[in-house]
Amino acid sequence: MGAVGWKSNNNPFDHRGTESQRKAFDFFALVHYECAPSLVGTVHSDFSVLLGLCGKALAFTDWLSADCERRRNMSTKHPKPGFATRAIHVGQEPDPSTGAVTPPIYATSTYVQEEIGKHKGYEYARVSNPTRTRLEENLAALEGGVAAKVFSSGMAAINAIVTTLKAGDHVVCGHNLYGGTPRLFNQVWANFGLEFTYVDTSNVRNVERALTKKTRMVFIETPTNPLMALTDIRAISDVRRPRKIDLVVDNTFMSPYFQQPIALGADLVVHSTTKFLNGHSDGLGGVVVCTRPEQADKLAFLQKAAGAILSPFECWLILRGVKTLAVRMEKHDESGRVVAEFLASHKKVKKVFYPGLLEHPQHDLAKRQMTGFGAMITFETGSLSNANKMLRKVRVCSLGESLGGVETLISHPATMTHAAVGAKGRREIGITDGMVRISVGNEDVEDIIDDLDRALSSI
Ligand code: PLP
Repeated sequence: MGAVGWKSNNNPFDHRGTESQRKAFDFFALVHYECAPSLVGTVHSDFSVLLGLCGKALAFTDWLSADCERRRNMSTKHPKPGFATRAIHVGQEPDPSTGAVTPPIYATSTYVQEEIGKHKGYEYARVSNPTRTRLEENLAALEGGVAAKVFSSGMAAINAIVTTLKAGDHVVCGHNLYGGTPRLFNQVWANFGLEFTYVDTSNVRNVERALTKKTRMVFIETPTNPLMALTDIRAISDVRRPRKIDLVVDNTFMSPYFQQPIALGADLVVHSTTKFLNGHSDGLGGVVVCTRPEQADKLAFLQKAAGAILSPFECWLILRGVKTLAVRMEKHDESGRVVAEFLASHKKVKKVFYPGLLEHPQHDLAKRQMTGFGAMITFETGSLSNANKMLRKVRVCSLGESLGGVETLISHPATMTHAAVGAKGRREIGITDGMVRISVGNEDVEDIIDDLDRALSSI
């Protein structure tokens, strides 16, 4: 077995970004490198009139003008900033009032108004908050959307999407979604007249056959959790587009660094920001990235009406986390490939599910659709007792739910993420009691492998 060592420059969606991302950044560049110099120019001429040749003030404004000129040249020389640059700069501009490189957390519930209806664009923190605005701009730029809206968790984000539907509407979903998603659909929204059909979306014909006159949405996750099966986003998009059905992609496992669903035809992208986007396992969150302004308006209304918003502190944590998304993902991917190969050659491991392995049935699609294989690996230990024996022994890996942190997290899907699916539901889609899922972290990969080797020897 072996992981292919191909690099992102083979892929059309390299990290210089998609057209829409570039547009988003161009807007950012315009604001920062074009508008700022003209503002400075005004300041400069006013100073000139008021102070004549008063040296120090002019020296200061000259320096500012020169700095802006330098930035303007920078933007001309590099008009298409890459992914890491967008992650570090879009929405992350220094605080205008103090110059603080890391903008502050706006811990406020309300905003003072000068007179009735006269304010600075912020009225009440459920409706909007400057730290939240910054995060929403940043995540929209990373996914190539027109706007993004953040919510208090990944499930709150998914719930907001479903809330845009109405009784009688039908949704076609992947049959192997994160367990909490079908729990929300079947145990909450089915009670309000929404209908859900679950199919294996790795075959586009299954999706085509499930569409009805009432279908308003196709909801997929790729790769799936925990089976690591892929869905061809572009193929699904082509099937539903003529019928004006929205395609929603949960991109949590890959992050925008390795997969760009909007460039492949998705209408909405959702993430549990709790995972790779935050990257430090210290805050819950969710985001919906939109491709049309009216979607963003509806979701902004839902933030205000239902109130499942993300706190300014958690927005700030994610803004901090995404600054290192590119480097973290590169390391996750590098170590993910090494750990997958180690597991695939281990005699106690019966099967490994990782799109980077040549044996993965959709390995070619993975190379086409993603720019890396990522950190998520599932493997078969043979039984619940084997899984438990090894999970009791891990020391570097932390046994717990969740994924996407800098620390390696190891979990048992049957009793954790997919407990809500039930034994029958798990059997139908192929989740066994012996399966273990690992989110390979950013520790030294030799230590992760030693830990797994020691734990597996207990089986
Ligand atoms: N989507 C996926 C793929 C997930 O793995 C999870 C949680 O594990 C969610 C959505 C829900 O996110 P949250 O736990 O932030 O509500």
